[in-house]
Amino acid sequence: MPEVVFPLDSTKSFTEQSIVGHNRWHPDIPAAVQVDPGDVFRVHCREWFDGAIRNDDSADDILNAPLASVHVLSGPISVRGAQPGDLLIVDILDVGPIPQEDSGPLAGQGWGYTGVFATNNGGGFLTEQFPDAYKVIWDFRGGVATSRHVPNVSFTGIVHPGLMGTAPSASLLSTWNAREQRLIDTDPNRVPPLALPPLPDSAVLGSLDGAEFDRVAAEAARTAPPRENGGNQDIKNLTKGSRIFYPVFVDGAKLSVGDLHFSQGDGEITFCGAIEMGGFIDLHVDLIKGGMQTYGVSENAIFMPGRTDPQYSEWLAFSGTSVTLDGEQRYLDSHLSYQRACLHAIDYLTKFGYSDIQAYMILGAAPIEGRLSGVVDIPNSCSTVYLPTEIFDFPIRPTKDGPHQINPGQGVPRATA
Ligand code: ZN
Repeated sequence: MPEVVFPLDSTKSFTEQSIVGHNRWHPDIPAAVQVDPGDVFRVHCREWFDGAIRNDDSADDILNAPLASVHVLSGPISVRGAQPGDLLIVDILDVGPIPQEDSGPLAGQGWGYTGVFATNNGGGFLTEQFPDAYKVIWDFRGGVATSRHVPNVSFTGIVHPGLMGTAPSASLLSTWNAREQRLIDTDPNRVPPLALPPLPDSAVLGSLDGAEFDRVAAEAARTAPPRENGGNQDIKNLTKGSRIFYPVFVDGAKLSVGDLHFSQGDGEITFCGAIEMGGFIDLHVDLIKGGMQTYGVSENAIFMPGRTDPQYSEWLAFSGTSVTLDGEQRYLDSHLSYQRACLHAIDYLTKFGYSDIQAYMILGAAPIEGRLSGVVDIPNSCSTVYLPTEIFDFPIRPTKDGPHQINPGQGVPRATA
């Protein structure tokens, strides 16, 4: 096993650990760990809500999820010799749930969860159709996920970090804050909000304290969106065997990682999210000096995905176009056409006995493929969502006999408040 450079004790909260991580982006959060180019090391990661979500049959914890505290990240990890303009090579050598035989109280100890946020606390991709808070528990066994809340479906995990990235420079951080504030200003009272400005409340900034903590907390960017540094990209294919090339904006690069997922569908459409869990990740790092200029990598990370995806080969696909449910034509709106494709798939699955929220949870957690199939045929973009047919233990394809009926079981817990 590689040396654990960022350890976490499962019995303690994120801020009580021997090395405290962070939940904001800022160049002045001190490096927690130093490694050398060529090093191989292990990092422990808390699940993104630091244990606030429990393995039970209530969604009240999702309803009241502490959004100001996310994402709890492990790092920053300083790589000796890294300078602005370099490319940081990160190899994911292994990644998995918390290694423990018995199931425990933390997501990652044999189980994980998928949630849907209420519209007034987070919202999500289909929040107009699903305005309440919901939660599904998934059990892990032999690398496969099943759920007491969503029967007749099981799939192999494609374990990956939802969030990994380098620290922004001071000027890049101010660019982020300015452009996101301009967007917020177009509709400052929108629910859910258009973007999340810096928020000192619940900020965790590694070893910083005192006046320096207050200054950094007031400027530091939230971790929800992906940006030029990588960040919360939620790319399900960043699994074991992946090599990622991150732009370096500060001395040492200051790599951070967290938000591990046992599995996820393309788009992480449920927002809370994939199958969320804590766990470990083994990394190897190296540098390409001056690589940002050499390879034209300034906009964002590039990567080579791993080859350990589950081998699903048969699919049932659903398409959608950029027309609203009210029949309004929109111009090449791929976000809308992907929503319509997903709603199409949800409608279809309800014909077999699933509730609509059970179907939504399957699309968020299972390894579905989302594609931009057409983006030029004015006025309609065409998006498609591919469901692997083998994840269902009953025939899912249309036949002349009509849909096989499943027993939907106890269903998906909804928040009571
Ligand atoms: Zn996540």
